[in-house]
Amino acid sequence: MKKVLTIAGSDCSGGAGIQADLKTFSAHGVYGMSVITAVTAQNTQGVFAVEDISRDVIAKQIEAIFDDIEVDGLKIGMVSQVQTIEVIAEKLRHYSPETVVLDPVMVSKSGYHLLNPEAEATLIKDLLPLAMIVTPNIPEAEVMTNMSINTLKQMEDSAKAIYQMGAKNVFLKGGHLENEATDILYDGQEFSYYSSPRIATKNTHGTGCTLSSAITANLALGYTLHQAVVRAKEYITIAIEHSLSIGKGVGPTHHFY
Ligand code: PLP
Repeated sequence: MKKVLTIAGSDCSGGAGIQADLKTFSAHGVYGMSVITAVTAQNTQGVFAVEDISRDVIAKQIEAIFDDIEVDGLKIGMVSQVQTIEVIAEKLRHYSPETVVLDPVMVSKSGYHLLNPEAEATLIKDLLPLAMIVTPNIPEAEVMTNMSINTLKQMEDSAKAIYQMGAKNVFLKGGHLENEATDILYDGQEFSYYSSPRIATKNTHGTGCTLSSAITANLALGYTLHQAVVRAKEYITIAIEHSLSIGKGVGPTHHFY
């Protein structure tokens, strides 16, 4: 059994964050573990409160896992604050896991800052170099590169810029562009392009978390980066197709294989 860890925030409504990650891991037949960085109070309508977990308790959670259990894949999601990022980076430098997927979570679809804007530079400086692959969406790539992205060419330029900041591979998701829904993967040498049909639904809560977790699970299972991305995209497409109209707002994706 492959063992996979998510370091991320809790979404009590079960659609995003740690909860989406663990559901995705289970659906892939891997054993899921979690280090919680923040507890959020949220539902399909918005985020109402966030309490960050202390630096010390985050450190102890990471130690508890790595000192006891082999980690075949690791995903980093919501990291909230400068001190959270610093302690994660310090611990990962110590344990040096190979397969690290960084989802640079910044703002929720409902507009809540899940990453303190003051921590953006620390995320780039401390976590980007530790990741095998980083998975920004367009708004996140715009913040990271200070560029405005409206075309596939601009996506390519932004992916190159993120690569130059220290990422080994950049998977830039095109879903926020009006016409293009193409995602691109840049490995420092060439681009790969991944298109999928746009699914007409409002229920997309937690899609970013789910995609990065699915990539992590597939890498842990031994797939190549390209295969892991293709398989994760298939997984998220089916999860969105079967998304759930629960709650009064943006419903979650549905996890099964
Ligand atoms: N809440 C948490 C804890 C998350 O980690 C994420 C991840 O991006 C979100 C919410 C985002 O939710 P949404 O897909 O609605 O933007």
